[in-house]
Amino acid sequence: MTRTLAACFEGPGNLYLKELDLEPGPSQLLVETFQASICGTDKIAYRGDISGEFKLPRFPWGHEGGGTVVEVGSKVSGYAVGDRVVSFSKGTYAGYSLYDVPYGCVPVPEGVDMDIACLGEPLTCAVFASQVASKSMEVGDVAAVIGAGFAGQVISQGLKKGGAEKVIVVDHVDEKLDLARKLGADIVINPKKENLARAITDVTGGRGVDVVAEASGSGEGLNAASEIVRHNGTIAIYSHYMKPFMVNMYRWHEDCLNIVHTCLLHRSKEEALVGVRDAFRLIRKGVFDVRPLINRSYRLAEIREAFELEISDQTSVKSVIIP
Ligand SMILES: [Zn+2]
Repeated sequence: MTRTLAACFEGPGNLYLKELDLEPGPSQLLVETFQASICGTDKIAYRGDISGEFKLPRFPWGHEGGGTVVEVGSKVSGYAVGDRVVSFSKGTYAGYSLYDVPYGCVPVPEGVDMDIACLGEPLTCAVFASQVASKSMEVGDVAAVIGAGFAGQVISQGLKKGGAEKVIVVDHVDEKLDLARKLGADIVINPKKENLARAITDVTGGRGVDVVAEASGSGEGLNAASEIVRHNGTIAIYSHYMKPFMVNMYRWHEDCLNIVHTCLLHRSKEEALVGVRDAFRLIRKGVFDVRPLINRSYRLAEIREAFELEISDQTSVKSVIIP
């Protein structure tokens, strides 16, 4: 039995650490956390900006992170004490957590540093989204990304490497747009400062963007995507929307838009594992520049302060928690 401190989320603004005893089941690994990271959806839940139908696991909390195997369940094969693993399970805001085998974790590939590997959950999901969105592109296409958070920044890089002639990134926060530019976006637009539809008309000669990835998590973002995409263009939806909203679907029908959903982890479990491994292949090759996306590092003991600060700082893209 291993005793650890783990984050307990009891509702908006109510987050604290409490003790938890862990013992790996037959198909589980006990993992000492190297690093966890704060997901945008966790921030939304902490703020209380979430509808009641979403039942989030609250204790132990957190779903992004990784670490080193310290104990192996009796029926587990293919893992050993000392292996480096990335979590696709729950409970990562903790000193130790349990990872399910085979679908709740993947081994960290040789040659990938742990600080990057521990971002495996958000990273591989965003890489996969860029791969899916890129499949709808042709030579000379203009792509756009709505939302320059962690996922949007990764997707923007993927669309550029996937062949977009131009990538346009849209966000309300100038610092995030500056970062997107630094990481390869050709054009950035802040709709608070300029008219988005007009700017897109100028850039595309009135045609609209060929492919747009929605990664803002807001209804406003999805409606913006629907507005700027061209006739017969593609909207690739990445966001995990946490409450219902109104969408103007007039153009979806009228312009016969191609709507694709890019959620890697909600495909079949087997398909998700293949997707994760493939995304890690690209990360290992250095196709994506990830380190500039990490803003701050907090200790687990400061998790409440971490959430307060991360929510108040609109410029933050991804921050990490180290036990
Ligand atoms: Zn996440």
